[in-house]
Amino acid sequence: MQASTKENATIGRRGFILILSSPSGAGKTTLTRQLASDHRWGLDVSISVTTRQRRPSEIDGKHYQFIDREAFDALRSADNLLEWAEVHGNFYGTPRKPVEKVLGAGRDMIFDIDYQGTRQVRAKLTDDVVTVFILPPSLAELRHRLERRAEDSPDTIEKRLANARMEIQRWSEYDYVIVNDDLDDAFRSLEGILIAERLKRARRTGLTAFVEGLLAEPD
Ligand code: ADP
Ligand code: 5GP
Repeated sequence: MQASTKENATIGRRGFILILSSPSGAGKTTLTRQLASDHRWGLDVSISVTTRQRRPSEIDGKHYQFIDREAFDALRSADNLLEWAEVHGNFYGTPRKPVEKVLGAGRDMIFDIDYQGTRQVRAKLTDDVVTVFILPPSLAELRHRLERRAEDSPDTIEKRLANARMEIQRWSEYDYVIVNDDLDDAFRSLEGILIAERLKRARRTGLTAFVEGLLAEPD
């Protein structure tokens, strides 16, 4: 995953934002955490603020920053959110400063946000955004996953399933689409996207100097 020493010395790269979106239960959180927990990828995760209630398995400050509506409105008014949206009746937003810091250092960041937020980020940071939509293999499986996850109330699960059809229709706005049937396959696809996007010529710096160096070598 690391470039060779000679490459490292000359070739750099602009960082980008990797956005994962999906209907609730399709697996974007699982994939995001799996990718971010493998430190060889060197990915920072954006920690959103939200007004939704914390799930039993969630840790404040790690999975989300759980805040009330007043605090959310204050962040929004002060322009401290790169994007924000109302999703399933709760408010969510991406704090701006950590993103600026990570991109400024030439590193990549992964976002788990919905299609409304994706549109806002793409409008602001066009060339530095890579978007991936995760589809479930079927709606029946989506329901099973939400029920198996067992972290939301039956009412909440129904609301999320009702929204799923609308969210799924946003698939065509994304650069890549992964059907998350087998988790290992989906994860490998995601790794493939990351590898390819990191090699994109347009985001890489120092290639000209590197090639000039190659060509200057004696035969
Ligand atoms: P999302 O973040 O999109 O709402 P999660 O990542 O929380 O979805 O996944 C929902 C549930 O489905 C979790 O219990 C997760 O372990 C499970 N899950 C994710 N991907 C798969 C898969 N490919 N096969 C079976 N279960 C999965
Ligand atoms: P959940 O409540 O299941 O964690 O997330 C619900 C939805 O909100 C998901 O589609 C998730 O991607 C989205 N979401 C989470 N954080 C943000 C955020 O900061 N901004 C936006 N726009 N959506 C978010």
